[in-house]
Amino acid sequence: MGFQYRVALAFILIQSLIMSTLSVPTLQLDTAQAVLELPSRHGPAGLPVANATRSFWIDTPGANPLAKEGSQGELTSDADVCIIGSGITGVSAAYHLAKHFEGREDGGTPVKVVILEARDFCSGATGRNGGHLTPSVFLDFVNRELAYGPDEARKTYALENYTASELINIIEAESLQRAVDFVASSHLSLLVTERELNFAKADFAAAQAAGLDLDHIEWVSGKDMSETYGTSFPASRYPGHNLWPLKLVAELYKIALKTAPSKFSLKLHTNTPVTSITSASSTSRRWSLSTPRGAIQCSYVIHATNGYSSHLLPHLQGPVGIVPTRGQVLALRSASPLSEVTTASWGGNEGFEYWFPRPVESGKEENPLIILGGGREASGPNFEYYVTDDSVVQKTVGKVLRDFLPGVFPGKYEKGREPEMEWTGIMGFTKIGDPFVGPVVKSSELDTREFEGQFIAAGYSGHGMTRAYACAEAVAGMVAAKLTGTKWETPEWLPRHYLTTERP
Ligand SMILES: Cc1cc2nc3c(=O)[nH]c(=O)nc-3n(C[C@H](O)[C@H](O)[C@H](O)COP(=O)(O)OP(=O)(O)OC[C@H]3O[C@@H](n4cnc5c(N)ncnc54)[C@H](O)[C@@H]3O)c2cc1C
Repeated sequence: MGFQYRVALAFILIQSLIMSTLSVPTLQLDTAQAVLELPSRHGPAGLPVANATRSFWIDTPGANPLAKEGSQGELTSDADVCIIGSGITGVSAAYHLAKHFEGREDGGTPVKVVILEARDFCSGATGRNGGHLTPSVFLDFVNRELAYGPDEARKTYALENYTASELINIIEAESLQRAVDFVASSHLSLLVTERELNFAKADFAAAQAAGLDLDHIEWVSGKDMSETYGTSFPASRYPGHNLWPLKLVAELYKIALKTAPSKFSLKLHTNTPVTSITSASSTSRRWSLSTPRGAIQCSYVIHATNGYSSHLLPHLQGPVGIVPTRGQVLALRSASPLSEVTTASWGGNEGFEYWFPRPVESGKEENPLIILGGGREASGPNFEYYVTDDSVVQKTVGKVLRDFLPGVFPGKYEKGREPEMEWTGIMGFTKIGDPFVGPVVKSSELDTREFEGQFIAAGYSGHGMTRAYACAEAVAGMVAAKLTGTKWETPEWLPRHYLTTERP
């Protein structure tokens, strides 16, 4: 009996015994990719909308003390560097710039850096996401190797490992585990169709042949999954982490503030959307950023606006650039205690769905809150591409998400239970699935002069928690090199095809 036939038989057998079912359609990734690549009649993204849905991370009382920071009073009018966006990219860029100037002996005035945020602090995707900090380990290796060769393919995983381990180092060095609700556990990647299982096995074999360290990967059969976790789908299992993303970003901001106060000054202006960027009239600064509160002039600009990038950079609209894409998340109380649910985090169905249980507060609650996102593949033919309105939720997505866990774990989750919170957020998708990192260029011309001094790190395609910090480090390094008249060296973990100047 051939391997494929045996796998198919095992699938049918296990499914019929336990009957895990899915409320969402399967095998939608290829269609979603084809739709993403279609020419678009949508123009550039708008600005972030007002009255965004309330997310658990942002709207839990006390969670966002920086929400309105710098929103009143006088706007800073001059800076060396303006960072647009206060999500994990913008704040990481400020953090890396601060670190760059730490311990420098050269005197002179401190480098002035300003973060401008359209809404409240960290109210974009970072304040609305699924909370996972789990690097991709081998999935998609075959495609990446085909597209870029084995070295580049390896680097895409190296960058994610680097990001996760650096963020964990910071959390440990600053003793932030409780402050950011950091959880280190297992991550299970559910393989819900035979095709997904076969692809995962092929990715694993190719990654192993290319020398990736995969010792920490385990394959768990449907039978073992059903005994241990109560779902019949097989899975790969590896270390995973989750945390409170907004709180991590707030801590990075605080570290940046105190890192090198005599060499580096940092100011945050929330509720200050940048509406346009034009050449500055002054000779000392290159750019003038308009906001409803007045203008600010600066020499360097870092675009950390992710799904909204094309608002200020219209050449990044459509599939050649960054496509805003709405995602949806529920915070749903589990019907069972954490001991039964386990602390593991999960993903599955080609990555469309992802979930994990929040840590429980001892004495206050027994059953954990599950943060569950996905359902975009059930939203209709457009997969929520070009949707920038996160002030509403999508009904069909909400319905399939409510039905998802009771179907995957029969008997373990209560059917019909209403979530405690439900929200949406805007991601930034690119057709190659990888971000734009580096100087702003018009891709057809690779000409940096029109945007001299402007940089971007954006377009993580729904997977930014393990990439944004490192991409921001690269861009901050480029800006710091300009400020200090030194040469920027490409870090060994940065895939070259992420660079705006080398994108395919
Ligand atoms: C529902 C959802 C679930 C996700 N789940 C995960 C996950 O589990 N794991 C993972 O790795 N990734 C996940 N992601 C993706 C991840 O959250 C993003 O890749 C990452 O947060 C991007 O960070 P960022 O700082 O680049 O963008 P954002 O956090 O979106 O920050 C951009 C900021 O720029 C501001 N802005 C935009 N335009 C302007 C302007 N003109 N002027 C001033 N400010 C402006 C916005 O208000 C926003 O605050 C998810 C995303 C969503 C939406």
